[in-house]
Amino acid sequence: MMRDARVLIIGGGIGGLTAALALQQKGFSVAVYEAVQKLGEVGAGVTITPNSCHALNYLLGEDVVDSICSVPASGAIKHYLTGETLIDTLRGDGPKRQYGANYCQVHRADLHDALAEAVRANDADCLHVDHRFVNLAETASGITATFANGATATGDVLIGCDGMRSAVRRQLWGEEEIRFTGFVAFRGLVPTDRLAPEFLEPDSAAFAGRGHTFTRYKVRHGELYNFVAFTRRDKWAAESWSEPGERDEMLAEFHDFAPEVQAIMRAVPADQLFKWGLFDRPPLKRWTQGRATLLGDAAHPMTPFLAQGAAMAIEDGLVLARALEAAEDWREALQRYEAARYERGTFVMCESHVNAERIYKRDPDKLNRRTHRNAESMGLYDYNPVTVQV
Ligand SMILES: Cc1cc2nc3c(=O)[nH]c(=O)nc-3n(C[C@H](O)[C@H](O)[C@H](O)COP(=O)(O)OP(=O)(O)OC[C@H]3O[C@@H](n4cnc5c(N)ncnc54)[C@H](O)[C@@H]3O)c2cc1C
Repeated sequence: MMRDARVLIIGGGIGGLTAALALQQKGFSVAVYEAVQKLGEVGAGVTITPNSCHALNYLLGEDVVDSICSVPASGAIKHYLTGETLIDTLRGDGPKRQYGANYCQVHRADLHDALAEAVRANDADCLHVDHRFVNLAETASGITATFANGATATGDVLIGCDGMRSAVRRQLWGEEEIRFTGFVAFRGLVPTDRLAPEFLEPDSAAFAGRGHTFTRYKVRHGELYNFVAFTRRDKWAAESWSEPGERDEMLAEFHDFAPEVQAIMRAVPADQLFKWGLFDRPPLKRWTQGRATLLGDAAHPMTPFLAQGAAMAIEDGLVLARALEAAEDWREALQRYEAARYERGTFVMCESHVNAERIYKRDPDKLNRRTHRNAESMGLYDYNPVTVQV
């Protein structure tokens, strides 16, 4: 009976597309409604840790994942000033041997394109752009979404995958404060041929500073380097939460970082540098109401200090599809989904904030393997959304 269910997905980001693909593969009818006119992703990298890599391997196939993702041969946390290695974060095939799936990095657009292509290959009419969700109405037999363009769509369940500023969340749980965390991220993509090779050892590196952190890694198999530089601000004045980044402002703030950091910051093309304000919302007590639920940042928006936001959205998407597959009816399906995902999503979200403060306050002179805490040391890689009980 559930196989006949029609699923409405609001938001065509990484979370929405993963859910759509997983649901299609389980035989469900799916429609994705995305607000923007052209489906796509921002120019930035994203780290895929083994827990979410399991899901991508399962959904896209390992050959596709390997073709778009770069596995760093080695990694390190370095002292911001001297560039000295403080902690070796062994990579290469180590995570695959230990967890069964790679630790890798990917250009967001490449991951998004691969998911969209797979969804379209299953159903050429599944993705609807220029459909900004505005509200929903539930009846005894279904749920109807209304869009800003005047269109409506009716299904059996509706999944809000519309990100940090989710309109579905607002419809279900009312207005809430979106709080500026005080953290700002400069993000950039640099063509590798603009960088001296000696500055790119090891493949993946984080520089621990005082109140500042810089991370860089390769994407597109070494064609580009992605970097993220975190700092703090008292307030975020921009209307939008991402704006073109100012190179001089960034260089001034990271002026005492090692020469290799300065070199990457100088090399980034102006149109590839962005500044993001990082926001958060209080955890919800529940995600599901009636025939609607939330997924990804809409359910558990987090800071990037554990590099798990996209990972959690990907895990959610596959577990949601497995819950629908296992259930007799939509009520049981959404209950199974939330039961399987609420605790983990909320825990990682809360820990991402704790880690933000920990990173902000840490003393790089005292940093070592024992005092370092990240997603791996918290056991987050020991989760497989393909096999976890749902
Ligand atoms: C600086 C930074 C670095 C990060 N690094 C990492 C990392 O290394 N690893 C990691 O796992 N995560 C990382 N993240 C987090 C990750 O980017 C997010 O958690 C992830 O993108 C969430 O995916 P999502 O699909 O839930 O939401 P989104 O990516 O926000 O997608 C939401 C989609 O919904 C659409 N939408 C919005 N409103 C509506 C509406 N009303 N109607 C229809 N559509 C709508 C949007 O246009 C968008 O396409 C990082 C985040 C930041 C800010």
